[in-house]
Amino acid sequence: MTDSVSLPDLTADEQARIQAKAALFPPPSPVLADGRKDLVGLSREELIAELALLGEKPFRAKQLWHWIYHQGVTQFDEMSSISRPLREKLASSYVVGRPDITTQQTARDDTRKFLFRFRDGQEAETVYIPDRRKDRGAVCISSQVGCTLSCSFCHTGTQKLVRNLGAAEIVSQFMAARDSYGEWPSPTGDTPRLLSTIVMMGMGEPLYNYDEVAKAINIITDGEGIALSRRRITLSTSGVVPMMDRCGSELGVNLAISLHAVRDDLRDILVPLNRKYPIAELMAACRRYPAASNSRRITFEYVMLRGVNDSVADARALVRLIRDMPAKVNLIPFNPWPGSDYQTSTREAVEKFAAIIMDAGFASPIRMPRGREILAACGQLKTESQRVRRASFDPAGDDSPQDAV
Ligand code: SAH
Ligand code: SF4
Repeated sequence: MTDSVSLPDLTADEQARIQAKAALFPPPSPVLADGRKDLVGLSREELIAELALLGEKPFRAKQLWHWIYHQGVTQFDEMSSISRPLREKLASSYVVGRPDITTQQTARDDTRKFLFRFRDGQEAETVYIPDRRKDRGAVCISSQVGCTLSCSFCHTGTQKLVRNLGAAEIVSQFMAARDSYGEWPSPTGDTPRLLSTIVMMGMGEPLYNYDEVAKAINIITDGEGIALSRRRITLSTSGVVPMMDRCGSELGVNLAISLHAVRDDLRDILVPLNRKYPIAELMAACRRYPAASNSRRITFEYVMLRGVNDSVADARALVRLIRDMPAKVNLIPFNPWPGSDYQTSTREAVEKFAAIIMDAGFASPIRMPRGREILAACGQLKTESQRVRRASFDPAGDDSPQDAV
């Protein structure tokens, strides 16, 4: 009884602490050097308030929302349902922004990687990973430039957190990726989408940038704009337990957990956040995750590190951990990077591990590297790209792209 009274307060304190820390790394102002303001990333209420400043009624915000997020238009001139004088007025005060594209590369397996540059010169990477068998695919989006956490197998973890990405920058990664495929206006109803799912698995820890991520997700899922279902969005976290309940109840997106180890002593090393929120607490938060069900399973990501976490005993312990949950496991062969301490598990070890999980009744796909020759693995992003650019990397290099399973 005492627990159930004190726990919510502790969680609220912890949430407030995490959000206060996020505020120390803010995104750039939406106002450009020339004084115009970017409309992308504003909530509907904020857009209504902007238009009120021009003496315009709320229905104008509805029209703008349609042009920006449903039609994908970036020029006020093309917004034909809005009168010419108002279009001119809008163009003098506002922009519909997109990031600059520093690099765009398409691998032989059609994986496409973008390096986007934002207004302050910071860059983040977005990857489109097509489903090989169907006309659809996942867009892997970044939530921060760098990361405060330092998971020992992750290249992003070697980079300091530079800053959080703003809602505008998160939404516009998706919109700019859609631009490159010309997928506008936003497909409605059952019309298939090429860019059909979003995975927040790029650079950064999305639950350490909760407010901006939440705002972006609310824009992307708004039914009169991009209108992507919350069921088609998966947020990956290294285990920021205090924010997981809010994520489930407020955002209702699918959850992926970067588990990577089944014992605290090892997870403390691989995912140092584990020292704060150990496995038992993480699993408890997964069990109560409001948006999980048999049709919306929690994905446990498990990077396979040779001789570190890939034994038969580890696989059995993993099954015991997730036994009572609607779960699936995503086995990810480690993607080495210069200076990394680990090696990729052997194919045999990965298959043995997968078989144990499958025998226990859990789906256990092995996520093979896609677009490897353009270094498209989510989680090892910007600095790699800079290295690649410096070396004039050949996008059609030797490394064969492999299937995503
Ligand atoms: N910070 C969040 C989301 C970004 S990282 C999180 O940790 O969940 C997303 C995923 O990238 C991680 O689960 C991890 O599995 C993967 N990843 C990072 N570095 C990797 C590497 N070198 N090889 C394979 N996967 C890696
Ligand atoms: Fe950050 Fe995720 Fe990389 Fe860990 S795995 S360092 S949380 S981006």
